[in-house]
Amino acid sequence: MPAIRSLRLRLTLWYVLLLAIILAAFSAGIYLTLRHNLYDGLNESVRNRASLLLDVVQYESGRPTLAGAVSSSDPNEGESFARVFDASGRVTFDSSTSAEEVAVDRSAVQSALSGETRSRDVSGSDETFRVRTLPIQRNGQISGVLEVGMSRGDVADTLRILLVILAVAYPLTLGVASFGGAFLAGRALSPIDRLTGLARRISAEDLSQRLDLKLPDDEVGRLARTFDEMIARLDTAFRRQREFTADASHELRTPLTAIKGQVEVALGKPRDAGSYREVLQVVNEEVDRMIRLVGSLLTLARADAGQIPIASEAVNLPDLVAAAAEQARPVMERRDVELRLEPGPAVTLGADEDLLLQLLLNLLDNAGKYTPSGGRVTVGWAAEDGQAQVWVRDTGVGIAPEHLPHIFDRFYRADKARSRAAGGAGLGLSICRWIAEAHGGSISAESRPGEGTAFVVKLPLSARAAAS
Ligand code: ADP
Repeated sequence: MPAIRSLRLRLTLWYVLLLAIILAAFSAGIYLTLRHNLYDGLNESVRNRASLLLDVVQYESGRPTLAGAVSSSDPNEGESFARVFDASGRVTFDSSTSAEEVAVDRSAVQSALSGETRSRDVSGSDETFRVRTLPIQRNGQISGVLEVGMSRGDVADTLRILLVILAVAYPLTLGVASFGGAFLAGRALSPIDRLTGLARRISAEDLSQRLDLKLPDDEVGRLARTFDEMIARLDTAFRRQREFTADASHELRTPLTAIKGQVEVALGKPRDAGSYREVLQVVNEEVDRMIRLVGSLLTLARADAGQIPIASEAVNLPDLVAAAAEQARPVMERRDVELRLEPGPAVTLGADEDLLLQLLLNLLDNAGKYTPSGGRVTVGWAAEDGQAQVWVRDTGVGIAPEHLPHIFDRFYRADKARSRAAGGAGLGLSICRWIAEAHGGSISAESRPGEGTAFVVKLPLSARAAAS
């Protein structure tokens, strides 16, 4: 069977099927209960009539009869009859008419004569009768047999009418319910159709559109809102991607333009070896800058794709900070910036040593770059509440409050000219933040313009902690 592609149709079909089963069970229940009760009632009537007639049995020359008690013009004629047999089984009274033609059942009469009461259904010419055959007692002796029959016609008629009613009402109810069900399902699902239509119109190129359906806070309303939120996230992600590509291209073009300019000037006329050397030096610096930039871009791209495995090794924090300081020291000394290492507690944490070293070197590199000569950079660490903290403080130029919230964004530079001159592309702190967060930690900055900046990295000790 081909799958039904309309949810509305499927819902309606399920609903109608369920209703059909419930209605069928309900109708069968009503019919069977009524049938049972009506036949019970008929049995009761036959029994009552029999005991009534037993009371009025008379004897003519010692043989029981009902001749004086039951008139031949019985209003129930055709619907009930009574017969009396004497002790030898001969009929002494019979109110059944030729129309009833209920044959005498000899074996029932014989059973009654031996004291046994029998009830059974007997078919007449055009009716079925409930017949009860029972002994007549006189002074403790069985003197004859009484047979009482009542037509089942009324009961059968009532049941037939009920069947007709049910047979008409059943399909009618189902029909009305199908229309009702289809209408309700249509009403409930129509917002989904609208949603589909609108969603189809929103393409990757135009993620600024929103469904913005004014729906109540029900299942469909929540779906529409969730969809809008997803589009908003996609929009942000796509925009960031576009900006990232544009910024990266721009950053790569700048050193290429510088190289091109230098080379063209050098090729303009013959020069001495010293001039070529100078040009090659500049080219070399620009190529270094590009290598750094491409390296950073690659790191971030692989980090985004989750392709950089984060090792969890036991890292001795004091050793790591000391190693980073030693690597950063020569550059700072050349720029006459003092590097001070604050002593701290012994701390071991589970982390990726290479990535943490890169993080610290980035922070120290920045501190060195943005601190004028004569300034000071302090690096230290502590451990408390299951967290390790590492800080890098400087007495440098600081960061203006309006820039501070953005310095961890990609390609963001608070002071473009100064940063570029210092060889930065605005990616260092983005990488620092990724490293801290990849370890389940965080990085934050505080700064006073003109006085200095402090970066604090917080890393959990236990989350990734190896045996220390
Ligand atoms: P960059 O490679 O340009 O240094 P970063 O991502 O490392 O890029 O830093 C972003 C910006 O934050 C820098 O351009 C700079 O303006 C600012 N910044 C970072 N560290 C410091 C610091 N220690 N002192 C002052 N400004 C800083």
